[in-house]
Amino acid sequence: MTTSNNDDTTKMKDTSNKSSDGDGDPMDVDDQKAPPPASKLTIPPRGSLDTLLNRPSPFANEEGALPIGEFEPTENKASALLSNARVLVVGAGGLGCELLKDLAMSGRFRDVHVIDLDTIDVTNLNRQFLFRQKDVGSSKAEVAAAFINERCPWMNVQAHHGMIQDKDPSFYAGFNVILSGLDNVEARRWLNSTVVGLVEVDEDGDPTDPESIVPIIDGGTEGFSGQARVILPRITSCFECSLDAFPPQKNFPLCTIAETPRKPEHCIAYASILLWPKEFPDKKLDKDSPEDMKWVYERALERATRYNIEGVTYMLTMGVVKNIIPAVASTNAIVSAACVLEAVKILTFCSQTLNTYMMYMGSEGVYSHSFVYERKDDCPVCTSKVRTVTVSRRTTLNELLQKLCENNGSGSLNLRLKAPSMTTAGKLLYMQKPPALNASTKPNLDKALSELVAEGEEIAVTDPVLQHTHLSLAIAFEPE
Ligand SMILES: [Zn+2]
Repeated sequence: MTTSNNDDTTKMKDTSNKSSDGDGDPMDVDDQKAPPPASKLTIPPRGSLDTLLNRPSPFANEEGALPIGEFEPTENKASALLSNARVLVVGAGGLGCELLKDLAMSGRFRDVHVIDLDTIDVTNLNRQFLFRQKDVGSSKAEVAAAFINERCPWMNVQAHHGMIQDKDPSFYAGFNVILSGLDNVEARRWLNSTVVGLVEVDEDGDPTDPESIVPIIDGGTEGFSGQARVILPRITSCFECSLDAFPPQKNFPLCTIAETPRKPEHCIAYASILLWPKEFPDKKLDKDSPEDMKWVYERALERATRYNIEGVTYMLTMGVVKNIIPAVASTNAIVSAACVLEAVKILTFCSQTLNTYMMYMGSEGVYSHSFVYERKDDCPVCTSKVRTVTVSRRTTLNELLQKLCENNGSGSLNLRLKAPSMTTAGKLLYMQKPPALNASTKPNLDKALSELVAEGEEIAVTDPVLQHTHLSLAIAFEPE
């Protein structure tokens, strides 16, 4: 592996040193001859990738535990699968920059898109290496795409500056593989439910059209730890199946923060997320300003006192508001490399697909571990199962709504919804929007469920985090 990588790097120098950007990095030295103009450059030869793609392998995809296609090691056929593939990179931050670089340096990919809503901050520059001082304030997606397009003209990167939620499902359906380098659970849940929702399924929830399956390769890092996983929607577990593995303390459902605080963190989140914009509509909370943080701390303390909650301190306020997670460049590099390798494997079938989850742990030595993340048999996203919820006859619709938003692990539904709307086949029970429907359905919140639905009746739930999936609940009443 090391040898072939070195070979590749040597060849890369011969063929791709076309754009001296003058920042003195090693790519610019050792120029033996004048580089051809960028527009004349074709895909540079990559000896080791040819070796991999043009020769038979005892480890081809169909031999593995997660076979999805047959490897055809004929001259340039597998290679064409990469150059014809449409690839989406979600996020142009620490992982996104690495993913784009790895895709470009593999030398075969041509049609790559990148989407990110962020702009470049000066603190990104230590690891998000496609950005320079002059780029601070500009769109991450646009600058990253321009950098790769300039330096690696065999690959075309198209930038999308904006929220992933702004694109409709047909945008995501247009890709052969999606590489995700997102940094938060909510965006991952949205992307996952949208892409799983693309799959055409039969009554049992099994895929009927393999073409409608868009694999997601999800990378994530936190300090010295990271993971890469393969999600084949409706075939493997999806992101939602593993939601329980994500510790609940970092994000709180808005409804809990606004209505039913139980922990000091809820009060701090209330002050920083809901109160601050109300009090200072034109000023963004400056997490580095002691004055702003003191304001948040004091308001959180007031709310905690009102609800008899102990434990709000200035230190905890700092921790919750700043949500400090260290970013380590090398962890990003390792995880991204694993993700791009999986993309090459999934698109060409040249080797066995990761089945399904690889954890990398670098904080206590260097250690990695792969395992099958099993599907959750009542996953609200990738199964069509109706969940039965048992409630007392006196339980109100509002109490059910709170249950859907709860985030406390075992024993509960643990669906972690944000703003659920509920309907039955016959009527609207509660709608978050538009305002007119919200107003007309709001009185139902205080009614007992037994007044609103019959025993066993199904309630369809929609929610912004599970955008394109359908969650059904069947209501069962406890015996009196
Ligand atoms: Zn699932």
